[in-house]
Amino acid sequence: DLLVVGSANADLVIDVERRPAAGETVLGGDLAVHPGGKGANQAVAAARLGADTALLARVGDDGHGRLLLDSLRAADVDTVGVLVGGAPTGVALITVDPSGDNSIVVSPGANARLTPGDVRAAGSLFHASRVVSAQLEVPLETVTEVVRQLPPDARFVLNPSPPRPLPAEVLAACDPLIVNEHEARVLLGDACVSEEPADWARLLLARGPRSVVVTLGAQGALVCDSSGVTRVPSVKVDAVDTTGAGDAFTAALAWRLGSGAALAEAAGYAARVGAAAVTRRGAQESYPTAREVESL
Ligand code: ADP
Repeated sequence: DLLVVGSANADLVIDVERRPAAGETVLGGDLAVHPGGKGANQAVAAARLGADTALLARVGDDGHGRLLLDSLRAADVDTVGVLVGGAPTGVALITVDPSGDNSIVVSPGANARLTPGDVRAAGSLFHASRVVSAQLEVPLETVTEVVRQLPPDARFVLNPSPPRPLPAEVLAACDPLIVNEHEARVLLGDACVSEEPADWARLLLARGPRSVVVTLGAQGALVCDSSGVTRVPSVKVDAVDTTGAGDAFTAALAWRLGSGAALAEAAGYAARVGAAAVTRRGAQESYPTAREVESL
């Protein structure tokens, strides 16, 4: 049903009193290791909701890779497309200071070795999919090949994160392009003259995607297509940790679109999933089941 193409990382997290200067050593708290990466997060979020989900990704032949495979399988994600080897598993080294601010070093590792050839070799996964979802933590050539391999009746959903300029061929395939405020500003660059998210959505739509979604955190989201801009209200919750909320939103939206929902309806459901995800700590650990979304 849903194929996610993207990254899988081990997030290594240490609480620190303060960050070390060059040449300095500081002592931190106990290491916490979490499965992460936008691709793996999206796949787990969709599978938790009950979506029939496969992931095309690359991890290293190492302990972090096995951690990721275990977590994907525990969520019932189809992992035939998770390739192993070529480089160490991608890692995010995260220090968190007492004010909650993160400093992060990412080693893309195996994610950077997910090639267009890997995409071509995964033909059967594409044929089985109604929706294909991608992000930009794997090479842009790989995402471009994903667009070329899309079955004629399949829908493509892209969260361009981390944001960078997109080829016209990729933009034209997006239905929708999903951005948060930061990604919208970076993609629009000098064209971002307005402070109105509805204007960002219209400007992004003019660049070629069939539809655009702008997520606005606690403010919900906007959807925009040729019929105009529609506001999607958020659900009021006590936010504990917003990590991975955007990935849960995108996964839920992609799944609902694949089930035949209209864009605004799918975004409304996704907003509830995003809201549920911020009520618990962590990324994958915070993702709700369909039943939990209903009770929200
Ligand atoms: P990202 O995590 O990519 O920055 P957002 O912060 O915009 O993305 O969050 C994605 C979606 O999750 C939002 O559109 C909203 O539906 C939901 N969400 C995020 N934060 C909150 C919050 N504090 N309260 C309710 N819903 C939220």
